[in-house]
Amino acid sequence: MPRRSSTTGVFRPMSPFQPDSFIVAEVVPSPNSDERKNNRAPDMILLHYTGMQTGDAALRRLTDPASKVSAHYVVFEDGKIVQCVPEERRAWHAGDSSWAGENDINSCSIGIEIVNPGHEFGYPDFPLRQIAAVISLCRSITTRRGPISPDRILAHSDVAPARKQDPGEKFPWGLLSESGIGHWVRAAPLDLEGSGLKPGDRGDAVTRLQRTLRSYGYGIAETGSYDEPTRAVVTAFQRHFRQARIDGVADASTLLTLRALIETRPAPLS
Ligand SMILES: [Zn+2]
Repeated sequence: MPRRSSTTGVFRPMSPFQPDSFIVAEVVPSPNSDERKNNRAPDMILLHYTGMQTGDAALRRLTDPASKVSAHYVVFEDGKIVQCVPEERRAWHAGDSSWAGENDINSCSIGIEIVNPGHEFGYPDFPLRQIAAVISLCRSITTRRGPISPDRILAHSDVAPARKQDPGEKFPWGLLSESGIGHWVRAAPLDLEGSGLKPGDRGDAVTRLQRTLRSYGYGIAETGSYDEPTRAVVTAFQRHFRQARIDGVADASTLLTLRALIETRPAPLS
C-alpha cells in the first residue's frame, strides 16, 4: 500500500512505497501518477518498450516530473524489475488510446515498460532473461489481483495503432503464451493461397474486416473503406499476431490468423 500522510490523507507520490510484489528489486518512485478514475480496478496489462538508448535514461524520464509520463514497472535487459508507481495508482503510459470501447486506458491498466531502444535505435532482440522477468511479473500481477483475461494483456500498439509500434514485432508473445500469459495463436503461414484486402479497397469485405477487428477490441470504425486508420490497425495486429511480415496488408495469412484468434478467444470473465 502506498503511504499516506497520517494527518491529511493526501498521497505523496515521491515518498517511497512498499513494492506490490517481492520480485521487485528496487522502488524508484515517480511523481507522474494520479487516482484511477471512478475507482476503476485494473483489468488490463499493457506492455511497452522504452524506445530510448539506455534503460537508465528511460528510468530518469519516467520519474522526471517534467516528462508527465510513467509506468508501474520497468524491466531491464538483465531481468531486474523496478517499480515506479504503486499498482493502485494510475500511471501515465498509454496516452491517447482505446480498447473495447474504453478510452482511459491508464485507469484500467497496469503499465510495464520493457527496456529496449526500439525501432529508432536498431531494435535488438529481447534477451530471454528479460522476457522471463516480464512473464514472472505478469504472473505476479494476475495472481495477486485476481484473474485478468488473457486477451487483455496487450501491446501499446494495440491500443494506439496510429501512434505507437511498441513493443513491436520482435516481442515474443508466443513464449508468453506458452507460460500462460496472454491470448495468442500460431500465425498462419505467409504463402497461403487466397485473396486478401489491401489499402484502397472498398466494400462489404472491408466492413467485415473492420467489424472483426473491432469485436476483438481494436479502436476502428466500420467505414467500408480500407483507409489509413484501417492500415494502422492491421499493422498493429500483425506486430502482435502475425509477426513474419508487417505491411498493413490484410493478406490471406493475416485474415486466417485473425479468424483463429477470434475462434479461440477466452470466454469473458464474469
Ligand atoms: Zn509505449
